[in-house]
Order: sequence, then structure tokens, then C-alpha cells
Amino acid sequence: MSSRLAIAGGTPVVTRDDYQNWPIITDDDRRLVNEVLDSGIVAGGTAPQVSALEREWAAYIGTQHCLTTVSGTSALHMALAAVGVKPGDEVITSAFTFLASASCALHQNAVPVFVDIDPRTYCMDPSQLEAAITEHTKAVIPVHIQGLSADLDPILAIAKQHGLHVIEDACQAHGATYKGRRVGSFGDVGTFSLNNFKNLCGGEGGLFTTDSEEYLNKGVLIRCFGDEVDEVSHRRVYNASILGYMYRNQELPAALARAQLLHLDENNAVRIANADYLSAELAKIPGVIPPYCPPDCRHVYFMYNVRFDAPAAGEDGDRRRFRVAVEKALYCEGVLVGQWQTMPVPAQDLFQSQLGYGGSRHPWALNEAKGVRYNYDPAQFPVAQMLCDTYTVVHGVHAPNGKELMDKILSAFHKVFSDLGTALDHADDEIYPGADGKLYGAG
Ligand SMILES: *Cc1c(COP(=O)(O)O)cnc(C)c1O
Repeated sequence: MSSRLAIAGGTPVVTRDDYQNWPIITDDDRRLVNEVLDSGIVAGGTAPQVSALEREWAAYIGTQHCLTTVSGTSALHMALAAVGVKPGDEVITSAFTFLASASCALHQNAVPVFVDIDPRTYCMDPSQLEAAITEHTKAVIPVHIQGLSADLDPILAIAKQHGLHVIEDACQAHGATYKGRRVGSFGDVGTFSLNNFKNLCGGEGGLFTTDSEEYLNKGVLIRCFGDEVDEVSHRRVYNASILGYMYRNQELPAALARAQLLHLDENNAVRIANADYLSAELAKIPGVIPPYCPPDCRHVYFMYNVRFDAPAAGEDGDRRRFRVAVEKALYCEGVLVGQWQTMPVPAQDLFQSQLGYGGSRHPWALNEAKGVRYNYDPAQFPVAQMLCDTYTVVHGVHAPNGKELMDKILSAFHKVFSDLGTALDHADDEIYPGADGKLYGAG
């Protein structure tokens, strides 16, 4: 094998065939999906697979109740609606997350407010939470980012002190724990996604977990048009008692998620083993910063993130250019790397323009009329910006990939870091790193 970098015409270290795709389909999937087809029941809020998934997920997470939904995003919106977030309320979330952690507030006519992240965990920095609370704040949405729990104790304590609801965005953290307990069981409501990328996959779908009977009952109504069901006849009465939506899931995704749940722990263990191995080895390369997991957490590595530190690698140029150069060189070596979020969420055009419903200034205008101004200047989130400048996702830590692939990935890192000058010479090449859709079961 030539040691010339593939970006400069050398031979790549890794091939696409070295990667195996996610999710893993087993006979359990075929059996449960066939159960649906054989039953002839394909939908229904209390249909057998949906109900079984709700029982099994509540038992797994350790909550009293669970509701399935059509997506993680709808579970988040349902949670805000269930706890009574109103127009003009503010909802605080993390600056480094997926858009839905914030847009769920807009969907409830509330205003998202962002808090910067901790530079090691990439989760909301609890020491900056209190400064973001105003008289309008109603809820806080900590995000368990990339499979790692947010630092919940201080967040829960601050929320309690200020009378705020806590909605956990656990859409990336199925099976992750904080101080020995599974996330999604700490807040008023926990929310999960079942999309094809996630550690627990139903194709699409979501889960809403709670210990509260009140939020459960509200959730049931909100999930299905706000429509009441007659207590005696169990028939829908087509009398909406509250504002609701159509967020029901269906039997095929629920059956797939149930079958995948049978393998969640073993598949998470593979992610953890792959990640721990990569981290131990990558930490030896000056300029590579593997992900950090606090000792009281179990990180389930929905995404495996590394950061690049140019000065530590002996390069003193622009940090973003250095990341781009290394990312492109690794990608040309056949390593599936690439960014997920490219900017802090508040830097997105939606927040810069503050144009919401129908292109109007709602919901922000509601509070502006009271003299409140919202400023989403990205300069307020320097740690999230630093992360977005310097990180890349190393794809493929999911099962059934194992040590063989990890070793090839490590070889590629060593190769690139032994010739950073060449990588930097090619920083402007027209190369677009990232995983193909098929790696995550997408068409
Ligand atoms: C995936 C995800 C969601 C949304 O889930 P969908 O099922 O795609 O709607 C919300 N928050 C975070 C952090 C996510 O990663």
C-alpha cells in the first residue's frame, strides 16, 4: 500500500464494502412484521403492536407510561402541548442540537431560547442555564446529544427552583444512562425518535415517556385530534375537547421497533466497544480529540464525534480549514466522515430572519409587542461554534461493524496525520465528505 495520501492520488485504506449498514434486520423483524400482516390490523392508537411497544418501552426506560407517535419531532411538540406551554412562553434548549429540539417550541407558538454547550460533553452547559431564564420561561429541553446524557442534576434543580417543566430530548440516546438510570425517565416527559438513523429504529416513529397520568391523558388526546373517547362504549365521539393533531403511529413501524428493541442492548454494547477502542487509539494522535464520557454516564454513541485541534497537531492555521482538510483527506482514504450540524441551531436562517407562521414574524411578534427582543447572534454560542468549526462524525461505529473496520479507520487517521501538509494543500478540492444514505437504511 502506497503511503501517498489518496487525496493526492494514492490508494485508499478503506473501501465502502468494509462498512456494514444500519439497521440490522433479523428474523425477529420478519417474525413481528409478519404478525402484523397475518393479523390484518395495520393501524390504531390501541392496536396490538403499538400497545405492546408502549408497554415494553415504558418498562425498558423505567417510566409508568409511554405513547408511540409518528416521529420524535411530534413527541416533542406533544410534550410541550401536554405540559401546557402557551403562546408567548419561552422554551430553553441547547445551541448544538437538531432543529426539532427548538422548532417544537415554535409549533406551540412559543419562543426558543438557546444555551451554549459544555466544551467536553457538547450538551447544554448547566452553568449558563440560569442566565437564560426570564419571566416568560416555561420549559427547558435538555438534549442528550449523540448518545450522551446531558448533566441532568443541575438542570433539574434549576428547573425546580424556577418552576419550569423539563422535557428530555432523548431522540439520540436510547439506552443511555445518567447516574445508573436510563434517560427519558428524569423529566416531566421524555421523547425519543425511531427514525432509520437512530439506535432504535422503526423506519419512522417516536416515543413519549412519562410518569404523569395527567401528561399521559393529555398526550392521548393531543395525539389524536383532541378527540374524546366515550368511557363506556370506548367509541370516539368526534367531539374535540382540546386542540390536537394527528400524531398516531401505526402497526408496521411499531412491530419493527419491538423487534429491534430485542437487540438494543447488544447493539449498544457493540457501539460502545467500537467507540472505546477508537477513542483509546485516536487519543494517541496529537490533534485528534475523541468524545468524552463522564464517569457517571453511559454513552451509547448514536454518533461518534471527533474534534481536530490544529495547534496540537503542529498546524497554526485556521481551525475550520484544518478540519476541512483532514476531513477531506480521510474521506478520500475511504473513511465515511462528515459533519452533521454545520452551525449552531440559532445561526440557521429561520432564527436569523425570525419569520415563522405564513412568513410572518409570529410567534416572536407576540412578545415583541410587550417590548421583548430576541437576539440569536451566533457570537453568543462560542463553544457550539467552536465545535461546528472543528468536529466531524466518524460513521460506522454501529453493529455489526467491529474491530476490523475500526483498525482500518485508525490506519487511515495515522496515514493522514503523517502527511498533514499534503492534506492542507488539498483543503479546497471539490470533495464532499459524508455517509451515503444506504449506510443508514435510507433510499
Ligand atoms: C432525530 C432527532 C429528533 C427528531 O426525530 P424525528 O423522528 O426525525 O422527528 C429530535 N431531536 C433530536 C436531537 C434528534 O436527533
